[in-house]
Amino acid sequence: MEGVRLERLELRRANLRFPFPADLAEILTGKKITSLSRRAKYLMIYFEDGPVLVCHLGMSGSFRTLDDAVGEFAHTRSKIEAHDHVIFHLIGENGDKTRVIYNDPRRFGFMFLGTASDIFDNPHLAALGVEPTGNTLDANSLARMMMGKATPLKSALLDQTLIAGLGNIYVCEALWRSGLSPKRKAGTLAKKNGTPTPKCNSLAIHIREVIADAIEAGGSSLRDHVQTDGSLGYFQHNFAAYDREGHACDHANCRGTIKRITQSGRSTFYCWACQR
Ligand SMILES: [Zn+2]
Repeated sequence: MEGVRLERLELRRANLRFPFPADLAEILTGKKITSLSRRAKYLMIYFEDGPVLVCHLGMSGSFRTLDDAVGEFAHTRSKIEAHDHVIFHLIGENGDKTRVIYNDPRRFGFMFLGTASDIFDNPHLAALGVEPTGNTLDANSLARMMMGKATPLKSALLDQTLIAGLGNIYVCEALWRSGLSPKRKAGTLAKKNGTPTPKCNSLAIHIREVIADAIEAGGSSLRDHVQTDGSLGYFQHNFAAYDREGHACDHANCRGTIKRITQSGRSTFYCWACQR
């Protein structure tokens, strides 16, 4: 989408989870897309002269491309057209036409509009914590974040105002890799002077590592979440803790098994023996 122009924006209904912004098509039509980026689970499309369209996929939203001249990242896949709700009709400098289609069977996704200068003041984005894969998350910042917190470590790691976009699966896996109990108090990751404990150092490394491994493997897939080529992600086959209740722990020399508990309404999977 970068560098091409939005020739027409086709809205096939008035809303997804929320109504589409007023005059959305009028504001964006004819403008060139300058760049794409992401913040937490929000996909951001920057247009020339300032408008930014922010898209959230909700539970079941996806983007796909149609037509030929779309480059190496385009893959054909089948989707039920009744759930195609937004169609970006795009035209390149050379006149090549492409369509990018937003499909969402359950319609929990949503889109909103802002401008490049104030988009991060939007309530959806303003309260978000640091990116888990960004340069600001390291052992020192993690220790500062957790210092003094009596909440369970698992819940603190899922708090999107602390770390944005770290989901349930990856928290379980990072804690397992780090040998940290999801039930321990978050504040135990910081020493009295606010510096990181050795376990905090380990967790900071494993958070990044588990996400890097998942991206490498094509992402975790649950229900109808699929890769851009239409196949299911397969990081799920590499889970060491998540969804492995009753299985023997994979850590060398550990005789424990994976246990499942509920924390803040979410399933937590951990080894009762080696995660302390
Ligand atoms: Zn274990």
